[in-house]
Amino acid sequence: MGDREPHTADAAPDVFDVLIVGGGPAGLSAALNLARARATVLVIDAGRPRNAATLRSHGFLTRDGISPLELRKLARAELTAYPTVRMLDRTNAIALSQVDAADGIRFSATISSHGSGEPATVVARSAVVATGLRETLPAIPSLRGFYGMSLFSCAACDAWELQDRPLALIGETPDLPTRARLIARWTDDLTVFTNGAVVVDTVEEAELAASGIVVERRRIDDLEGDRGSVSAVRLADGTRIAIEGGFVRPHWDPALEFLAGIGVDRDHEGHLLVDRSGRTSVAGLYAAGDAAAPGPQQLIVAAGQGARAAAVLIHDLVGVRTAH
Ligand SMILES: Cc1cc2nc3c(=O)[nH]c(=O)nc-3n(C[C@H](O)[C@H](O)[C@H](O)COP(=O)(O)OP(=O)(O)OC[C@H]3O[C@@H](n4cnc5c(N)ncnc54)[C@H](O)[C@@H]3O)c2cc1C
Repeated sequence: MGDREPHTADAAPDVFDVLIVGGGPAGLSAALNLARARATVLVIDAGRPRNAATLRSHGFLTRDGISPLELRKLARAELTAYPTVRMLDRTNAIALSQVDAADGIRFSATISSHGSGEPATVVARSAVVATGLRETLPAIPSLRGFYGMSLFSCAACDAWELQDRPLALIGETPDLPTRARLIARWTDDLTVFTNGAVVVDTVEEAELAASGIVVERRRIDDLEGDRGSVSAVRLADGTRIAIEGGFVRPHWDPALEFLAGIGVDRDHEGHLLVDRSGRTSVAGLYAAGDAAAPGPQQLIVAAGQGARAAAVLIHDLVGVRTAH
């Protein structure tokens, strides 16, 4: 493919071996490995990564502490060495559908680029879904201002920097006790804030108390702090509980509306069900990263899943079965 924009309206659509929806670590890693297997690849990316709120990413071998933006920039720079990869930024997949066309074409996508008029159509022999997750934080007025700065959602990613401080875990879901036990690995001063939600039963509360973890059931009025650095949780009755950081349990929602026309299997939370190699229940459709079950993970895991899906996709196209 050259540098042309995809055709619009009634012109013949551009054909790719693989369409990748989502240009995060999962999608870009799939693109790199597919390009190296001589596939023509179109990556479309809306440009709203899950970790956009944070300044530093941790735990990615050779890149510990890198800014998320820089990680993406490096990945994209590597892709420019491969002429069969085409990137469309600020572009959304609106609908993906299955087709049964000549030349092995199995998918047709309607895509829309920010600022350009008409939606366009592209077609591909295979597709990889790497769209990550949409996050909805608990409705606490100032929470967004601290998220990614001193409040995080992934203990494996960010607890090291917060260790041995008084920490909060804020959430409204029944998995709070499990998350609390994990976070207690990094601090012996942890308070679980349920914000009035009935999600921790008395047995769980007693178990947490035995580990020195406090459960605070009162509603939260707001958080206090300065320039992204949280200093207290203020409860609805005016009580202030001092903290120096912590974790939030967002609601995670795989934003997969564009797959509405494809009957692909999902788990009870909406994540795409895949086999251990990233194959979904639909032939030719693969998934990698946070969009695939079990959902939220880490950058290096997403990148690894993208690489594995790419390898398996090529094996499937050629018709060989391997250890993957
Ligand atoms: C605050 C925070 C801090 C984090 N810190 C770390 C850390 O330190 N270390 C770590 O390993 N992990 C960290 N993570 C987790 C990490 O961000 C994710 O695991 C990782 O980004 C998942 O990669 P992905 O490629 O699956 O999805 P993403 O990186 O979210 O990329 C998905 C891309 O797909 C695009 N997209 C979505 N829908 C469409 C569509 N319909 N059409 C086109 N494009 C679409 C999105 O805009 C986005 O650009 C953090 C997460 C958060 C929220």
